[in-house]
Amino acid sequence: MTAQTAQHPNLALSPIVAGLWRIADWNLDVAQRVRWIEEALALGIHTFDHADIYGDYRAEALFGEALRAAPALRGRMQLVTKCGIRLRSAQRPYRLNHYDTSAAYVRGQVEQSLRKLHTEQLDLVLIHRPDYLMDAAALADTFAALTGEGKVAHWGVSNHTASQFALLHRHHPLATNQVELSPLHLDALDDGTLDQAQQLGLRPMIWSPLGGGRLFCGDDPQALRVRSEMATIAARLGTTIATLAYAWILRHPSRPHPITGTGRIDGLREAVAALDLRLDAEDWYAIWTAGKGHPVP
Ligand code: NAP
Repeated sequence: MTAQTAQHPNLALSPIVAGLWRIADWNLDVAQRVRWIEEALALGIHTFDHADIYGDYRAEALFGEALRAAPALRGRMQLVTKCGIRLRSAQRPYRLNHYDTSAAYVRGQVEQSLRKLHTEQLDLVLIHRPDYLMDAAALADTFAALTGEGKVAHWGVSNHTASQFALLHRHHPLATNQVELSPLHLDALDDGTLDQAQQLGLRPMIWSPLGGGRLFCGDDPQALRVRSEMATIAARLGTTIATLAYAWILRHPSRPHPITGTGRIDGLREAVAALDLRLDAEDWYAIWTAGKGHPVP
């Protein structure tokens, strides 16, 4: 049994996760948001990734309105959200952006997410960024209290180094580290986070798998190089650059869950199509080489 199944027996994220960072930009009315969720579910995407701060603190409520309009959807999905960033906004005029993993703040944000998402429980809550002032033992007590109250089923982190992950994991079992990875952002391959995920059997979640759209629109040398290489491979394999990018991520042995960012159902389809595309090592390294700008040593 892997560490994940031993410690998190009830957490089975869908292979592709839908991200809601940009939902406020999609300009969907409530009925359209319900339809969007239904179509994602029909594609086998049953995990939805949120954060308290997305859409200037408005994104969770947009999704929650859809769940209030169609309450039966909640039982067919897993809700992931994040907290820990105090982001300046009109309603929150902090002097500067900063991080907060104190008991009072984490509890307050979790309870707010429950209200906004119209749900009784969050399936997975991540600490969004590493808080240098985090007291790991105290934060673990907060996790245990909120889990004991039935408010959060599982906990994890995002953007944490391997040692930051290990520190908190020692005090409370974490389910995942959500990190950035794409042919345009290769750090996780070398910085130990994916090694640790594989070592612990804890599947990572991957954000900005298409480089936030830079894969298609970027005109910097790296984006031009990667797009040209991926276009050639995609044409040979009879697929799209987007599907190829997801397949490139899925090929990693840590068994990542890529998180989509698209508002288009066709975009979700391109992600799901990657589950049937296994890259060989030459194609995988050709994309890596284009991303790095030099061959393997
Ligand atoms: P992404 O897939 O790298 O980028 C999505 C962007 O690419 C969208 O604007 C999308 O526009 C565009 N796009 C997709 N396919 C395209 C195509 N074929 N041609 C042109 N543009 C295309 O993902 P992301 O939104 O940056 O991140 C995904 C999710 O990861 C977020 O929703 C969020 O849940 C999570 N995230 C987490 C963190 C963290 O710190 N933990 C940070 C950032 C994001 P369309 O809608 O038009 O397709």
